[in-house]
Amino acid sequence: MSQEPKSASRRTVLIGAVALGGLPLLAAAGAAQAAGTLPKANAHYQDHPNAGKQCSKCNYFLPGAKPTAVGQCKVVAGPIAPNGWCTMFAPKAG
Ligand code: SF4
Repeated sequence: MSQEPKSASRRTVLIGAVALGGLPLLAAAGAAQAAGTLPKANAHYQDHPNAGKQCSKCNYFLPGAKPTAVGQCKVVAGPIAPNGWCTMFAPKAG
């Protein structure tokens, strides 16, 4: 009988640890689902910077595996170049 609360407590800790360990995966899945749907033409997207403004410096950019890799955008649909730009550009804070 006295073992039950300890066992339940240990189980609760283990379940919590597994849940916390899964957070990065959930965050990654959320990022993948957060890609935008606005057509590039509507945002006047271009694959080169505009006066120093570019996707890698934008708050909406979802980077690829490497800094130079193609990523995604939270607003604009499709593959997004880190050196790209569009009229929805919003500079990252800091
Ligand atoms: S500049 Fe436009 S396309 Fe690039 S990340 Fe920002 S909103 Fe998306």
